[in-house]
Amino acid sequence: MTVGIVGAGQLGRMLALAGYPLGLDFLCLDPARDAPAGRVAPLLHGDFTDRRLLTRLGRQCEVVTFDWENVPVSSLRAITRAHRARISPPIAALAAGQDRVAEKRLFERLGVPTTRWRAVSSRAQLTRAIDALGLPGVLKTRRFGYDGKGQAVLRVPADAERAWRALGTVPLLYEEWVPFDCEVSIIGARSTTGELAIYPLCGNVHGAGVLRLTCAPFGPARWQRLAARYLTRLLRHFRYTGILTVEFFVRDGRLIANEMAPRVHNSGHWTIEGAATSQFENHLRAILGLPLGATRALGHSAMINLIGQMPALRDALAVEGVHLHDYGKRSRPGRKVGHLTVVEPTARARDARARRLLADLAVGVRIP
Ligand code: AMP
Repeated sequence: MTVGIVGAGQLGRMLALAGYPLGLDFLCLDPARDAPAGRVAPLLHGDFTDRRLLTRLGRQCEVVTFDWENVPVSSLRAITRAHRARISPPIAALAAGQDRVAEKRLFERLGVPTTRWRAVSSRAQLTRAIDALGLPGVLKTRRFGYDGKGQAVLRVPADAERAWRALGTVPLLYEEWVPFDCEVSIIGARSTTGELAIYPLCGNVHGAGVLRLTCAPFGPARWQRLAARYLTRLLRHFRYTGILTVEFFVRDGRLIANEMAPRVHNSGHWTIEGAATSQFENHLRAILGLPLGATRALGHSAMINLIGQMPALRDALAVEGVHLHDYGKRSRPGRKVGHLTVVEPTARARDARARRLLADLAVGVRIP
């Protein structure tokens, strides 16, 4: 059975690596000839809108998934129209995740608490949004934002002009700044059969908008229950298939949804070694209608993103119990090139371990 993956980044690569033991084959599509998944699976090299390549994907694959949330919806629609392949997760979930306004409306409709926000497409609307929601706030592009890109924080009234000049050429959203106590994410799968499986909550720390550290399991049982309830509403709403992730701010015990990602997620990488079944395997099981695997944690995990460049292999492997993942990407400042995970029997041992690794790697964030 062949699974198509639109996008051949590190998420596609980890999907393929999780699928080989199940006897699955993969075919990826990506504009980058040296894309990480292309090192482990056949790669169709070309644009995401290339009809000829989309046709090949649709013809050769039972199901087509994606590893990037900005894949054009029209490309996936073209595959479903012309071929027998199914698209999973549903295109409607991808479309909602691509537009911050659609995403906010959906959260509100399903009773998932989110930040107060206003759509902004003119300078006057920005002034009105600031009047309504106050400062500080964040101006974000409605589309194509990721890892903190396409965002400007406004602290004082004079910041509005600078932010408008930086971002004002595209549709925007202004939202209140949340002085959060911490950030968490919940990851879960819904199978084509309707079966659900939800992972333990993840505690996430970002630096400059980019995820640096995840600890899991994380937080009190009440947060887990709330997050799982909100995630389940979204999974049921879309009759979802595959892995869905929702990120929240936590403020005074309230969970406030920031965004959702209709795909396997960076904050779930710990599940490769730290859970009974990885998010990658469960995504494949879910989109193929196979029984879902157990999501329980096997210990207390910390996952640290390696950004910019990989540590020397010899040094990284010299640290006992560290699981290293090198995505095979070229070094570049700010680029996610790999991650490492440790799994310990207690949260305390995990935190001590993670603290040392963060110091050794000079990652400027603290354990949540
Ligand atoms: P996003 O691309 O929306 O996920 O934003 C990336 C990161 O920026 C988040 O994980 C937060 O750390 C921070 N951030 C974004 N929006 C807000 C907000 N409204 N209040 C506080 N922090 C925010």
